[in-house]
Amino acid sequence: YYLVQRRNKEAIRHSTKKEKMEQTFIMIKPDGVQRGLVGEIICRFEKKGFYLKGLKFITVDQSFAEKHYADLSAKPFFAGLVEYIISGPVVAMIWEGKGVVATGRTIIGATNPAASAPGTIRGDFAIDIGRNVIHGSDSVESARKEIALWFPEGPVNWQNSLHPWIYE
Ligand code: ADP
Repeated sequence: YYLVQRRNKEAIRHSTKKEKMEQTFIMIKPDGVQRGLVGEIICRFEKKGFYLKGLKFITVDQSFAEKHYADLSAKPFFAGLVEYIISGPVVAMIWEGKGVVATGRTIIGATNPAASAPGTIRGDFAIDIGRNVIHGSDSVESARKEIALWFPEGPVNWQNSLHPWIYE
């Protein structure tokens, strides 16, 4: 028993020291909400071991959506994309973990659901590129910008007590 306790203490010390945590911005788009995929999507990020650090259920307006997708403003699909994002409420989230930006993109799958692998969110639940259910930041830098835009108040500050069971 004491050995187990000591190992746990060591695990906690190690894991909090070693891990470089990252945050990403994930949004369940209006089609994901309408189709009842909110629980399923949150479940996948939670079960993987990532930590929920922010969550809001909101409808955004046109100028906010245009800000979020500013990098795509020259694309021919931009107007349709903005219309899609403001068409109903979305679930905006901050998820934290080691490599969560890239791994989050892997969990989500390729932009075009026709090319996204089975087992990914888009591969399992979407067909058209313009109704691809979910957004995830594509780099640490865009994650930082998107979190600042959607969560100006910052992330929720809490520690998951399972940490040493997820990280070595
Ligand atoms: P991702 O969301 O995978 O990062 P992009 O940043 O390239 O992909 O595009 C943002 C969103 O714009 C996509 O998720 C998709 O909803 C939409 N989109 C991208 N390309 C097209 C397209 N050719 N036609 C319609 N919508 C598109």
